[in-house]
Amino acid sequence: MINMTPYSTAGVEFSGNGYREEALETNPFLIAQRQLEEAVEILELDDATHEMLRWPKGEFKFAFPVKMDDGSTRVFHGYRVHYNDARGPAKGGLRFHVKETLDTVRALAAWMTWKTAVVDIPLGGGKGGVTCNPKELTRSELERLSRGYIRRVADFIGPHSDVPAPDVYTNPQIMAWMLDEYEVIARQHLPGVITGKPIALGGSQGRGDATARGGILTLRETAKALGMDLQGATTAVQGYGNAGSYGHKLGAEILGLKIVAASDSRGGIYNPHGLEHKDLAEWKRRTGSVVNFPGAEAITNEEILELDVTILMPAALEGVITHHNADRIQAKIIAELANGPTSLEADHILHDRGVYVIPDFLCNAGGVTVSYFEQTQNAYNYYWSESEVHQRLEAKMVTAYHCVRAMAERMKVHNRLAAYLVSVQRVATAMQLRGWV
Ligand code: NAD
Repeated sequence: MINMTPYSTAGVEFSGNGYREEALETNPFLIAQRQLEEAVEILELDDATHEMLRWPKGEFKFAFPVKMDDGSTRVFHGYRVHYNDARGPAKGGLRFHVKETLDTVRALAAWMTWKTAVVDIPLGGGKGGVTCNPKELTRSELERLSRGYIRRVADFIGPHSDVPAPDVYTNPQIMAWMLDEYEVIARQHLPGVITGKPIALGGSQGRGDATARGGILTLRETAKALGMDLQGATTAVQGYGNAGSYGHKLGAEILGLKIVAASDSRGGIYNPHGLEHKDLAEWKRRTGSVVNFPGAEAITNEEILELDVTILMPAALEGVITHHNADRIQAKIIAELANGPTSLEADHILHDRGVYVIPDFLCNAGGVTVSYFEQTQNAYNYYWSESEVHQRLEAKMVTAYHCVRAMAERMKVHNRLAAYLVSVQRVATAMQLRGWV
């Protein structure tokens, strides 16, 4: 079991940043805590169980130096949070982002806890990151940053304690450097310490597109449940990275969606006649962005959310759908590939307006599910074919979707709350069985 002194003090709301009022719309950790509260109340969990579920079990926040190519040294701030490991080792990605904060990492770690529980894999929740702008770093600086991060967290991670993976602005190459650094420290091969690795280093077939594939499967089940035909359904994708770009590809391939808009950090594009994945992905690879894609008109990242489309896929960052714009969202279904795109208030507005939301920690659970398969294969030292991975992923996603849907119908609550009820109950049961509460 992980045994760390909690960095935060239970009872103190936040780490001294002085925000409270504005926080319900903008602080992802406060949003995560409030979402949990609703579930705890319905499940009638006791105070100790609630308090354990409300806070990370342990947090590590640190500064570390990195030698830059010009000979100077820069100090970066890193984080690793273990939210809850009652059901298994903490599991969660690493984000390299300028706006990374301890509270963002805490929220993402909490959502990982609910995510591994909703798909019923024997893992807990964790998350990590570094406050940095990876676009300003050279390849060698990025490698030293990645290795430096692992040297600091080496005592807190491990195949049986806490397993990182890629998230925003981290990728298989970064996972490879991190694996190598960890194995140098451990003096043995331990591929299960990190997932999202390149295939050549023990990565799994099907991990690359797993997040989007899982989301598209939940969308397929939604369409069946609602009696909708999604062939040609207009779709907007905010955030054209791993989750969003594969969301485009697989949405078109599997469901026949017509993607009419896409965006990234530099802006968005719109073409009512549809965008071809192959061409757009190639354009982004060559130019670094979707903007100026031939034949499409420019739109902003705010406008893309409010387009008159059937499906909206937020696939960038948290906090983009709030009470400011929830009234203007025209999509009938929101498939949340991103973590935490919707604020609490927006959730209620969307529900009242009849917008069907596939909540983030269900919709994007395909990534962690295949990460779990990757770890399983690493432990066996025997590897599966892509079709085996797809089959197992489909079984997990379909089961999880219908479990949440059944809960929503039985309890007459919206999907996010239903997903919380399923997950929180599972984590609470594990804590009770361990005798923690
Ligand atoms: P990524 O780094 O591959 O892509 C992120 C994309 O978002 C980039 O195209 C970037 O330009 C764009 N972006 C950044 N800021 C933006 C902004 N303000 N407006 C619009 N676009 C913006 O990251 P990813 O792995 O695809 O992650 C995207 C989301 O999916 C995150 O919320 C992440 O936590 C979530 N997620 C990812 C995985 C995974 O396996 N990669 C799993 C579950 C959830």
